[in-house]
Amino acid sequence: MAVIIPHLRSSSARRRGLAVLLSVAAALTLAGLLFTSGIAYFLAGTVVMILLPLAIIELRHLYATFRAHDLAMREAHDGLWSWYPISKELNVGQRLLTLLGYTDNRIPDTHAWLELVHPEDRGHYNQTVARHLKGETPHFYCEYRVRADNGEYRWLASRGLTLRNRHGVGYLMAGSASDITERKASEENVRFLAHHDQLTGLANRLLLADALPQAMAHSKRQGQAVAVLFVDIDRFKDINDSLGHEVGDHLLTALAQRLRDNVRESDIIVRQGGDEFIIILPGITDVLQAHVITSKILNAIAQPVFAAGNELCVTASIGASFYPDDGVTTEILLRNADTAMYEAKGAGGNGVCFYTFQMNETIQRRVHIESGLRHAIEKNQLQLFLQPQIDIATRRLMGCEALLRWKNDEGQFVPPDQFIPVAEDTGLILPIGEWVIDRSIALLSAWRDAGLMLPQLAINVSARQLWIPGLTQRLLDKMAKAALPLSLLEVEITESVFLRSDDDSLLEIRQLTAAGVKLALDDFGTGYSSLSYLKQLPFDTLKIDRGFIKEIETGRGGGEPIVAAIIAMAKALGMQVVAEGVENSNQLDRLAQLNCHIAQGYLFSPALPDKEFALRYLQPETVGKAAQY
Ligand code: C2E
Ligand code: MG
Ligand code: MG
Repeated sequence: MAVIIPHLRSSSARRRGLAVLLSVAAALTLAGLLFTSGIAYFLAGTVVMILLPLAIIELRHLYATFRAHDLAMREAHDGLWSWYPISKELNVGQRLLTLLGYTDNRIPDTHAWLELVHPEDRGHYNQTVARHLKGETPHFYCEYRVRADNGEYRWLASRGLTLRNRHGVGYLMAGSASDITERKASEENVRFLAHHDQLTGLANRLLLADALPQAMAHSKRQGQAVAVLFVDIDRFKDINDSLGHEVGDHLLTALAQRLRDNVRESDIIVRQGGDEFIIILPGITDVLQAHVITSKILNAIAQPVFAAGNELCVTASIGASFYPDDGVTTEILLRNADTAMYEAKGAGGNGVCFYTFQMNETIQRRVHIESGLRHAIEKNQLQLFLQPQIDIATRRLMGCEALLRWKNDEGQFVPPDQFIPVAEDTGLILPIGEWVIDRSIALLSAWRDAGLMLPQLAINVSARQLWIPGLTQRLLDKMAKAALPLSLLEVEITESVFLRSDDDSLLEIRQLTAAGVKLALDDFGTGYSSLSYLKQLPFDTLKIDRGFIKEIETGRGGGEPIVAAIIAMAKALGMQVVAEGVENSNQLDRLAQLNCHIAQGYLFSPALPDKEFALRYLQPETVGKAAQY
């Protein structure tokens, strides 16, 4: 027997075979010895009667074992194995070991084998084995990953059969295992190709059909929303028609990458076809989150793409719908996002439209502001108004603050308090801030050329503008190009600059002041009012927020002692103090008593359009005459 099944290295099987052979041999020898004696027949008969059934049972076992292994042999492609479910003993054939790169057998039992099975496949593997042992499956078949000696996982397809006793309990399972790693890889490749777009490598519609319901189910469990964004490139057809498909393809590939760069790992981007993309944002807890992402996407797409010697500038229109508010099926959500996208296109493109009608007003308003603001520069809707700053003691003009005004499509002035935060959140403050700098320099140049002298112009700079290095250099270059002295310029920042703890923003500001630009801390008293901030940058001016100035007059809220303290402190630190929002002479008188230097407010003038400001404050004859206001 041991010769017939040499591949069987089972010691228990060998032991059993040996026991049977010895039993039969002993019985026959005993029978021979007793042959001549009188009681020989009786004794021999008894012994044979006892031993023979045992021998037959063992022989059947052996035969069955042989059959199982024979079966396994015949079925085997690569490696062989046999396993005793009761003792958990495992025999792994040499070929299977070689296939996994092991030189010695380190897998003596179930425990050691399971250690090698990929953790993700262990559950499935154990289940398949258990079901087969229970007799639920006639054959054992399982595909799973096993760790090879080099640490990589190989895919194995194991198949086998079980031998059972007459109670149906399996006591031996044997079979083969073949390496299907390559087949799995090509299957994966086919699946990937079937679910992805060839050009961009993004998911395709087929994947969307699976992914969106999954995202909805998951978000439902978490009590969150899913945003569906329909992104369409504006006037893509023109590029394709005029520059050719290759350039069009290049553009789409570049844009696909930008989409990837601007969403989270867990978000899904699908190329719906042509120049249409669908983005699924699961786990949305606040519509604002989706708004921030759509802004990022619009900004990223608007950056130029270089293709075949062309610099292409495109924009996109985005429509958004939300699960569950705007629909609970894939079809409805996509249709509503599509409708919203057409709405965004209709509004001139380069914008986003949210489908939800019930969406709270703030968001609607923000979205409306954002889409209008995107076109504000090109439509010439921005203006700089100027508000004078007056020396309280001498009543002379000390300078002015440039304050941004936006007249929207409906011809209404939108207050900066409404649109500046949106511009900051959406990154639109970057082009807008640049416009403010350009316009300020243009005004300074024009006034200088006309012989009108202005002591100083203050511009507001948002913290966000300082996150990306370069503002200082651009500002200095532009001033140099216009041949304007840097001391003409003051930059107003707020304490929010200190909130993001990176030194780059502060470095930008230090370079600015080192070059000679003046620096003011705006709205002092409203934020953290931390004195430590005052020491971190070389401020020239401290602007007291108008909230405190208001309290001087009313006497409520303890404003006056605070103003007095701020003025004293600023003086001690060698800074100028500007009181903002001075509306009446009572306030001005109190400020004068408190030794405040400069006042700005409706008492003198609101912010004025540049021509009006120049007429009122920069008349050539007033220059040098120390005009009083
Ligand atoms: P701010 O820099 O503190 O500007 C002062 C604000 O107070 C201006 O509001 C001004 O019109 C208003 N104001 C002046 N005098 C009085 C007064 O006597 N009474 C009252 N009640 N208000 C007065 P505005 O122009 O609406 O600007 C609001 C804020 O928007 C500014 O506050 C500033 O933070 C921001 N902002 C304006 N222009 C720009 C800009 O070009 N860039 C940036 N980043 N922010 C800007
Ligand atoms: Mg200001
Ligand atoms: Mg202010």
